Amino acid sequence: MSVIGVDVGGTKIAAGRMAPDLTVHGAVVIPTPTGAMAIVDAIAGVVADLARESPDEVRGVGVGLPATIDAVTGLVAHSVQTGMTAFDAATPLRERMGVAVFLDNDATLAVLAEHRLGGARGTDDVVLLTLGTGVGGGVIIGGRVFRGGRGHGSELGHISVDGDGPPCQGGCPNRGCIEAMCSGTALTRQFRAFAGAEPGSALGRLHAAGRLDSRSGLALAREGDPDAIGILTVAGEWLGVAVTSLANTFDPDVILIGGGVSAAGELLLGPARAIYQARALPPTRRAPLRVAALGAEAGMVGAALMAHEGVES
Ligand SMILES: [Zn+2]
Repeated sequence: MSVIGVDVGGTKIAAGRMAPDLTVHGAVVIPTPTGAMAIVDAIAGVVADLARESPDEVRGVGVGLPATIDAVTGLVAHSVQTGMTAFDAATPLRERMGVAVFLDNDATLAVLAEHRLGGARGTDDVVLLTLGTGVGGGVIIGGRVFRGGRGHGSELGHISVDGDGPPCQGGCPNRGCIEAMCSGTALTRQFRAFAGAEPGSALGRLHAAGRLDSRSGLALAREGDPDAIGILTVAGEWLGVAVTSLANTFDPDVILIGGGVSAAGELLLGPARAIYQARALPPTRRAPLRVAALGAEAGMVGAALMAHEGVES
């Protein structure tokens, strides 16, 4: 008996089949189409392809969305990246695929995957931040996923670390959120602002060539460019302010950083760790801060695990 996990991102959809031994097979990545129903069609299509290749029956499908899912109504409450607002994604998916469908927030599924199979195995209390286009958050308390009263919980990316900071994005009315300081979008903005002020710098030349974004800026930092490293250092220090509050709040066993921006590694985590170790209350400095283990597959693996645990129960 297999299950299928689907992770819907702003730019791509990753899907794979999970065998009963929890190994993942046939993982595929397709571009995310525009519009809620087009996304439903794309999910149904990729699931049908994976189910055809499966040697055994597919019993359930788990879908992670960059969205909050209302635990009472089952509706996708709000998702800027997919254009879903108060959208019933579960019903059309269930009708088309004819199997049990489970929906959840993508970062919540990533922390589930890290807890069961990744960088937080064997721990009870985990905090995860996924630094991508936006910033997602996942929390495990006492071995169980925390979702809040109605499923909207653990939007850690919208914890503000600078009350007068830059405006947040994606319908968040707050300022200086982790997402506004440390996301890929925020890094792109910071790299480009520097490039505009210093056109003769390596960042400036990359910008003039129309190729400067968070990914190319990170690559420049890894090559040792001091300006790009300086921008990552400041972003890392803001991340450290956030991690300090998360450690003080949850007293976790481990704090994991995932998402595409985590490719910065110690260029980001080093400054973050220095702030965290200096500022967290002494008893809550115990959790290691490290890059998540499952990389870009965490959301898809978590979606499959949710379906696996859902059809078992
Ligand atoms: Zn925000």
